[in-house]
Amino acid sequence: MSAYYPHSAAASGLALCHACGRVEPVTLERCPRCDARLHLRNPASVQRTLALTVSALFLYFPANLLPILKVESITGAQANTIVGGVIQFWQTGDYPVAIIIFTASVMIPVLKIIALLWLCLAARLGRRPLAMTRLYRITELVGRWSMVDVFVVAILVAVVQLGSVISIHVGPAALSFASVVILTMLAAISFDPRLIWDAAALPND
Ligand SMILES: [Zn+2]
Repeated sequence: MSAYYPHSAAASGLALCHACGRVEPVTLERCPRCDARLHLRNPASVQRTLALTVSALFLYFPANLLPILKVESITGAQANTIVGGVIQFWQTGDYPVAIIIFTASVMIPVLKIIALLWLCLAARLGRRPLAMTRLYRITELVGRWSMVDVFVVAILVAVVQLGSVISIHVGPAALSFASVVILTMLAAISFDPRLIWDAAALPND
């Protein structure tokens, strides 16, 4: 496995400045150019990523089990969960809307959580580093569009039954849902993909 990683800057005691990208010996402790603290790897990267991802996983349940919208109309009050909303759109024939909401709000958060947990494992085991690095890149790319999930809910609030609606309130699931999005974004930022290659370089037992 050492073919992946014959020499590294870290092995030579060189650290990349997180702030300005300058490479300096880690023994300097602070970057001579921008005075940021130098680390060979993001400190406690896996622990932080794991803690944030597990928190997101716990909040995923209230986000989907509690109502995301409370709509009051002349026909009465109605509370919808995300999945309930998807089913309603599907039944009324709004297939594209149902698919977009299901993808952005149900599927992508689950896939992000699974990918982050898998990356934490990869940083320990170091198996198939190239595939794992690709998974990291995809997770990061999806993470940049995470806000779309929240926008979808916001648009949902605006679009749902514009006729005969007296008031629309955001339900208790919205806070959990936004927290899932923010926590998975922070988890992806905390993860240091170089750890996958560090683990891959270690001799296998
Ligand atoms: Zn610097």
